[in-house]
Amino acid sequence: MATLIDGKATAQAVRAEVKEEVEKWTKEGNRAPYLAVVLIGDDPASASYVRGKAKACTEAGTRSDTLTFDSSISETETLELIDRLNSDDDVDGILVQLPLPDQIDDRKIIHALAPKKDVDGFHPVNVGKVVIGEPGFPPATPAGIMELLRRYDISTTGKRAVVLGRSNIVGKPMVNMLLQKGVDATVTVCHSRTRDIDQIAAEADLLIAAIGRAHFVTGDMVKEGAVVIDVGINRVEDATRPRGYRLVGDVDFEAAERKASYITPVPGGVGPMTIAMLLKNTVRAARMNAASLV
Ligand code: NAP
Repeated sequence: MATLIDGKATAQAVRAEVKEEVEKWTKEGNRAPYLAVVLIGDDPASASYVRGKAKACTEAGTRSDTLTFDSSISETETLELIDRLNSDDDVDGILVQLPLPDQIDDRKIIHALAPKKDVDGFHPVNVGKVVIGEPGFPPATPAGIMELLRRYDISTTGKRAVVLGRSNIVGKPMVNMLLQKGVDATVTVCHSRTRDIDQIAAEADLLIAAIGRAHFVTGDMVKEGAVVIDVGINRVEDATRPRGYRLVGDVDFEAAERKASYITPVPGGVGPMTIAMLLKNTVRAARMNAASLV
């Protein structure tokens, strides 16, 4: 039976460390890190993510404001807003909650962010830094996975890692993080056009599923003793739940845990780590901002 990787407890530990760091930082006479969160439109899922992030910021002693805008805001107005936040020295980090309404090109907005305030790590400069292994703002979800592996002492050196999914926010940065010197995994990435995905997955010592398909990874796709990281968050109907659905990952957990050595649950695995890593990036942004102002 696999050891459960407890993302909730690990995220709590990271958040407590961030809180301590912020306390120390402010005691040294610095102002608390400040994150500006931009929320456009009334998508309930986006609003709920933003509430979670704001709450986590407050708990960690950082400050944050959610700047909310009607879904009719134009791309030009949004770019002007980003410009203002970029040049405001009191703003350490900027987070634009995606997706944006159709009239706004997500890419243009991400490209407009000052890389030193891009705590989500989506700006091409930060993406490039992940590729070449320089410190920047790593995207929170794959960074959270690396943190889980570190804290559970899971060695990646020489291991065969298979990443399912090649999105810009999870799959691609994950591949690059696993490739770095010192991490030293041998990485294969699969996507919707990959042939024989079952066999490839079944060869993985470390299997990371980030595709967004409920229970895509069956027990047969898990090698005996593999480490299984489930990034997926999928809704499946469940009449027994008050909301009428429950959240499941991309992995058939019951089947996989019988073969894996370590496994993350959904919920309570990778998800909680994402916000914890965002907080870490926000504190880092504050340090960089303060250093650039002296
Ligand atoms: P995404 O942008 O939709 O990308 C999905 C990737 O999976 C794509 O590369 C796609 O291939 C691949 N894919 C889809 N169906 C496939 C199939 N049948 N076989 C093989 N590959 C397939 O998704 P994402 O943003 O990376 O998110 C992935 C999942 O993680 C979602 O469930 C999302 O909710 C979850 N997520 C969780 C967190 C967290 O904090 N835990 C954070 C982010 C995302 P193509 O490129 O060929 O289309």
